[in-house]
Amino acid sequence: MRKTKIICTIGPATSDFDMLSKLAAAGMDIVRLNMSHGDHESAARVIKAVKTLNRKSDKPIAILMDTQGPEIRTGDLASELELKNGSEITISVRDNVDVESSSFHIHYDDLLDTVNPGDRITVDNGIINLQVIEKHPDGHMKCRVIDGGILKSKRHVNLPGIRVNLPAITKKDRADIEFAMAEQLDFIALSFVREADDIRELKALMGDKAGKIKIIAKIEDQSGVANLEEILQEADGIMVARGDLGVEINVAELPNVQRRIARLCAEHGKRCIVATHLLESMIENPIPTRAEVTDVANAIYEEVDAVMLSGETTIGKYPVRCVEQLVEIAETTESVPGLGFTRNLILNNEKQHLAVTAVQLAESLGAAGIVVITRRGYMADYVTNCHPQQTRIYAFTNDSQTRRRLTLNRNLSAYRTAFSNDPEKTLHTAFDVLKDRAGLNAGDKVVVISDVLAGFGVEAIQIRSLP
Ligand code: PGA
Ligand code: MN
Repeated sequence: MRKTKIICTIGPATSDFDMLSKLAAAGMDIVRLNMSHGDHESAARVIKAVKTLNRKSDKPIAILMDTQGPEIRTGDLASELELKNGSEITISVRDNVDVESSSFHIHYDDLLDTVNPGDRITVDNGIINLQVIEKHPDGHMKCRVIDGGILKSKRHVNLPGIRVNLPAITKKDRADIEFAMAEQLDFIALSFVREADDIRELKALMGDKAGKIKIIAKIEDQSGVANLEEILQEADGIMVARGDLGVEINVAELPNVQRRIARLCAEHGKRCIVATHLLESMIENPIPTRAEVTDVANAIYEEVDAVMLSGETTIGKYPVRCVEQLVEIAETTESVPGLGFTRNLILNNEKQHLAVTAVQLAESLGAAGIVVITRRGYMADYVTNCHPQQTRIYAFTNDSQTRRRLTLNRNLSAYRTAFSNDPEKTLHTAFDVLKDRAGLNAGDKVVVISDVLAGFGVEAIQIRSLP
């Protein structure tokens, strides 16, 4: 059974019901709505389709909304602009500044105040690089083209190492977060998280309406990396957003940073997602490169919770094959024990200690599963944090949103069942599901751990044989 979960960004190539069902059938666990593209109307259509799909399926798909965040983009161009290596180009910060044709706009009012001659401006995810030559107080500046290329409209701009003077949560983000809460989505991924205060701001903004929504902090620049430990304390999980991160820091440092994030998440019991360029070449080609396969496998050795597809499933030619390919790499990589890296979970509360004990027990018994009975999913998280190597986690909750958000947890299958006042009854319902839907058999040994069952107060961990 596959341990690593799969997140697919939905876009033009995949937003209809038919494609969503194909992706789900192939193994997609979570849908990602990227609010840098599309509007509420198109997002609502995808959400509706996923809800329809979930009503028919016994493995519901969760939904993650990803904010645009303090992102800078180039302006609209009447036609594509060729930037030649070594040439000079004019950049204006406002559309209304009249400049000659070999120029383009960058939509960021403070650009002139934040960059200085010699600084680098990177466009289109690092493909086009410019160096600032001189600034003019009237709102434009001259740049030298270091790495040229064809510039299209609305390209992504990075100012590596420079703190962008934009709010962590923009006006657009606020509207999108309201939308996510109204739609009761499962996760909000906050873009360009630079410090723990950004997450606190999000929590304050969400207030009571946050419900059970989990928060993922996207680490995409140097501040995010520098403040990783404090950010980790506030968020439920981290996304290694390698697209922007690979431009904002020296790309050669990316593997170290990814590993450090994976290790810190494992230590602190947080979810971890590795994102961007996993199967990039499959946007065009039916097969991945060897390097891509190895990169995906490395994320799996790091025992991250999920890997995420972006362009591969938004605009790519082979979205379903990409999911199938991830499934195959995950199953193959996970099938050989002992190749992963070592982790040391920090034990700082009693429930986490209990979970460690349950997992040790299950592993030493060679149990067929660890059964977690949980309302809000906390005990399921504690068990996930232990990274059991041979034993699958089966979480049972009476809440459908908790069930959906638990799909992110590595090596965990979540089910929704009715809870009874009689703990034995609740357990037997779970055992029936294990036999009917998880392939377990009568006589199989499981370790049961619960944070909700009445009567389990002194006996929260049990060894049981399936009846
Ligand atoms: P994005 O974030 O796709 O929203 O830019 C992910 C990344 O930067 O890798
Ligand atoms: Mn990004």
